[in-house]
Amino acid sequence: MIDIKSMTYPQLKAFMEGMGEKAFRADQLYAWLHQKLVTSFDDMTNLSRELREQLKQRCTLAGAKVVQQQISQLDGTRKFLMELSDGQRVESVWMQYKHGNSVCVSSQAGCRMGCRFCASTVGGLVRNLTTGEILDQVYEIQRVTGERVSNVILMGIGEPLDNYDNVVRFIRMISGEEGLHISQRNITLSTCGLVERIYDLIREKLTVTLAISLHAPNDALRRRMMPVAERYSIEEIMKACHAYVEQTGRRITFEYTMVEGQNDTPEHARQLCRLLRGLNCHVNLIPLNAVEGRLGTRSKGADIEGFKLLLAKNHTNVTIRRELGSDIDAACGQLRNQNKGGETT
Ligand code: SAH
Repeated sequence: MIDIKSMTYPQLKAFMEGMGEKAFRADQLYAWLHQKLVTSFDDMTNLSRELREQLKQRCTLAGAKVVQQQISQLDGTRKFLMELSDGQRVESVWMQYKHGNSVCVSSQAGCRMGCRFCASTVGGLVRNLTTGEILDQVYEIQRVTGERVSNVILMGIGEPLDNYDNVVRFIRMISGEEGLHISQRNITLSTCGLVERIYDLIREKLTVTLAISLHAPNDALRRRMMPVAERYSIEEIMKACHAYVEQTGRRITFEYTMVEGQNDTPEHARQLCRLLRGLNCHVNLIPLNAVEGRLGTRSKGADIEGFKLLLAKNHTNVTIRRELGSDIDAACGQLRNQNKGGETT
């Protein structure tokens, strides 16, 4: 079956031409898929019955379907367990902010990066998500909530730059004016720092916000927390970040998950300041969501505050991640792990 939801606008045009259809039919079909977000060919009422039948026989509309939902009683954050057409499950999160609604999407089923504190990597990588499956997480959330999404964060399960082509196509399609037209400035891509891929991304000339999961201010410590640090030094990552800022003019975000007694001392804060000096960036301190069987416990509140103050004193932009949905399974990968083949509601 042909996966038409993953087709770009030009690809869909060529496909429809190949079926002997006029160009405007591709416009109509693309709008049904990527603006009106229908889930069945029968809903595409301005296409002839004959064309709908042909499409049904050749193409699939499979994407992501909500199978479980947790709603935070504290702030309305909703976490969704989504099932894909082969039964794989991923997580997506919907968060409400003053400036609009954000959706955090997964890019892979599982992950092969192996970060020692993370739940998503426990079973390794199962497979990459298709572009259509990444798109459909946003679409499904719009369908379920009935609300418009204005920000997208590639920060769910998986390493987006390890599924590079599908993720870049996702960014182009969701920001394209024939689709949901979400500004690239409102899209954030979070990576553990696959350096060659950051340079590739620079060449794409996208204007998304890049977030780097740094978590440590020196290589020795970073290697203890993240196996990927064996492949790339912090120096190489920083060079790529400088290039990214230079080329895109976008400020970089550094994520720094705070693990008690590991990376949260004043000396670590000073090292981090030295590292980031002169770069247009922002540090987001994330209190660890401790995962059973994984590395570490969360830093004490006072240590996180102290860390933040030291950075601020050194003129480094810093925030502590506002914890949304702390009463639901917030750490990504946990919901998926609990539900491996289990019953869902
Ligand atoms: N692979 C990408 C995106 C997914 S992880 C990346 O590494 O950036 C999203 C963010 O959550 C990363 O910064 C990751 O390091 C962090 N994270 C993972 N597990 C966590 C946990 N248990 N507690 C706090 N942050 C966590």
